Amino acid sequence: MTDPLIPQTTPATRMVTAAVQDAYAEYGAEASRWLDGFTRQGGQVFCGAGCFGCCNMPIRLSLAEALVVRDALNAEKLAAVEQHARKVIANARTAPDEDVYVRRHRLEVGYCPLLDRETGQCSEYAARPTRCRDTFSAFPARYCTEGYWESLSPREKREYAREVARTPGTDGELHYIAPLEHLSEPVWDAASEAMDRAFGLQVWGDFWVLVTLSARPEFMAAVEAGDGRAALKAAKAAGLSHPMILEIE
Ligand code: SF4
Repeated sequence: MTDPLIPQTTPATRMVTAAVQDAYAEYGAEASRWLDGFTRQGGQVFCGAGCFGCCNMPIRLSLAEALVVRDALNAEKLAAVEQHARKVIANARTAPDEDVYVRRHRLEVGYCPLLDRETGQCSEYAARPTRCRDTFSAFPARYCTEGYWESLSPREKREYAREVARTPGTDGELHYIAPLEHLSEPVWDAASEAMDRAFGLQVWGDFWVLVTLSARPEFMAAVEAGDGRAALKAAKAAGLSHPMILEIE
């Protein structure tokens, strides 16, 4: 593993991160309004500080969001993120399919290194990506834990399906609150537009891989030059490229 590099902001990356931060603020306000109405009507949300059952899920984001995180991290946290990114890459290279990839991510790659395991809280809450902002559970935390649903008996799984179907706010299939995910779509749009404007290309992929790449001058120089091929070459040279976890469009 190479030494972590202290991130450098540029006018282009500042423009991109400002667009994302504005979109986060708008999403936060919209989501609070929606949640107020939902709870007034008797809806329940079980997420809260100290609950981290979903912090071992794979997370996809844009480079624009990764830059927001990169700018918040010190060298020690960047090193921890890189270590995690290398486990993500190893998993992607060996997983035979997406189901195995996700299961192994949760069980073996493990919890996000930005999770404070003592408090159960996100240590970079203000910079966390969209997926961490828009995932809310209409069921207690144990339902978000890897392996819990699989551990249920066939009868309990049928009861789960019936309960989800009659719980307001879900999509009828899973216990997550669907409207709060839909409300975050403008964040994805803002990130796409900002990357197009600033770089002339878009980069999407795994959270920890993109944060690590965003701290590498050779990768960012290629992105800022709008040279997708050179960016991919830099990612490959860093051992951080795989079609499942890095897309440059
Ligand atoms: S960034 Fe924070 S909220 Fe998101 S997975 Fe990591 S610890 Fe959890």
